[in-house]
Amino acid sequence: APIIFWFRRDLRLSDHPGLAAAAATGRPVISVFIRDEVVEALGAAPKWRLGLGLDAFACALHARGSRLILRKGKALEVLRDLVDETGAGSVHWTRAYDPASIERDKRIKAALKEDGIEVASSPGHLLFEPWTVATKAGGPFKVYSPYWRAVRSQEVPEASTEPSRLIPPETWPRTEDPGDWALGSEMRRGASVLRPHVQPGEAAARAALDHFVDKNVNRYKDLRDRPDLAVTSGLSEYLSLGEIGPRTVWHAGMRARETGAPGAEAFLRQLVWREFSYHLMYHSPSLLNGNWRPEWDDFPWNTDADHPNVAAWRQAGTGIPMVDAGLREMYVTGRMHNRTRMIVASYLTKHLMTHWKIGLDWFADCLIDWDPAANAMGWQWVAGSGPDAAPYFRIFNPETQAKKFDPDGAYRRRWIAEGQDAPPETALSYFDAVPESWGLRPDAEYPRPVVGLDEGRRVALSAYESRRWRV
Ligand code: FAD
Repeated sequence: APIIFWFRRDLRLSDHPGLAAAAATGRPVISVFIRDEVVEALGAAPKWRLGLGLDAFACALHARGSRLILRKGKALEVLRDLVDETGAGSVHWTRAYDPASIERDKRIKAALKEDGIEVASSPGHLLFEPWTVATKAGGPFKVYSPYWRAVRSQEVPEASTEPSRLIPPETWPRTEDPGDWALGSEMRRGASVLRPHVQPGEAAARAALDHFVDKNVNRYKDLRDRPDLAVTSGLSEYLSLGEIGPRTVWHAGMRARETGAPGAEAFLRQLVWREFSYHLMYHSPSLLNGNWRPEWDDFPWNTDADHPNVAAWRQAGTGIPMVDAGLREMYVTGRMHNRTRMIVASYLTKHLMTHWKIGLDWFADCLIDWDPAANAMGWQWVAGSGPDAAPYFRIFNPETQAKKFDPDGAYRRRWIAEGQDAPPETALSYFDAVPESWGLRPDAEYPRPVVGLDEGRRVALSAYESRRWRV
């Protein structure tokens, strides 16, 4: 009987332990993607990017004589229908770790087993299963450095190669038309602006990794904080959708380290931040929507998402060039450099004294590399409410940060058109991407700061000082 492989955020063929195991049984494999409520809940940009990923994955399967079956609906109902239609005896998937997926998967596993269907879930999204890493006392880690020390010398299995063959079933079940799914419909004008910046799929992910190892890993340690340079790997969107597996990335980093590449250790350490975010989310799912440290619950953050300062931040018109540059980069490319993510997050939560959840939601709508755990950990780290957070007194000064990390102003010029005689295409394209209702024009005056940097810092510092004893 065929195996139904339910793909979620694992849209690849190699370094895929679950698929390798399914293929090794010698039974036909029916690959399925279900547009269920977890998919519906995605923000506009990640949902659009998922659509591109599904097209690329369907092509990859097709090229190997297989197919990707698309179905919309409640996952359990869809899987039961497919079992009936195909006579499948098993349903397999790669594990997910966010609370909504865990709850769904548990429920489905129990129900299918009751139907007499074999169910198997495999690792593959992470290097280290969250429950396998523990402190000496046996609990979860809350601080990064000891977590890193605990995992850095752990054996990571080699990535599996692509299955040599995926045996097709005798007849294929019906699939829905990806065109009808219109996963990009919430993007409106943004999609055509973003499209040239995105290369979806497993082959593109491998190319990005190879390029990084060839050209940039040596410079990574010294230059990874420079948003004006393209030194980091750009792998986050691929890791997020599983278009590349973390073991592949880990072993590429390890091999670079063995050849003495100076940045390899720093890169592996950064890759493991992703693991740490999953470790935190798994052990404290409230990381996603509440202060990890409850003593921040009464902190006087603005919680009005429609506040004019918040609207100015979302529209990348705060009047602070480094902040606006980062937010515009995100709107045009669906990504933002890590350094600028920290700067824009610090500005929102500190200078604008706005709750991190409002920023987290905006990122979840705009980032094509959106990842529930990394996004929540990043925001809570910057806001100070997270575990191992930035010290409360670390209020990034966006101007000092710009001098240090964008020393020639190239990054700001790339993204801010106003005030330039001949702005580059990147900066102009922001105005094509944003909704017309925002009324933004490249030939307008660049906005004045919505909050002065000194004033914002003073207000934030005094509010944060009041918690000092608790932090
Ligand atoms: P590289 O520097 O090449 O790093 C390699 C890989 O390591 C990345 O692809 C990523 O998977 C992982 N990684 C690196 N830094 C981090 C980090 N700080 N936390 C977790 N994983 C990391 N990353 C996301 O993937 N999705 C998000 O939604 C996300 N939201 C963020 C929000 C905030 C406020 C902050 C401060 C950071 C956020 N990050 C997020 C982490 C980080 O900014 C991105 O992973 C990174 O910029 C991706 O670029 P890269 O692939 O070139 O990274």
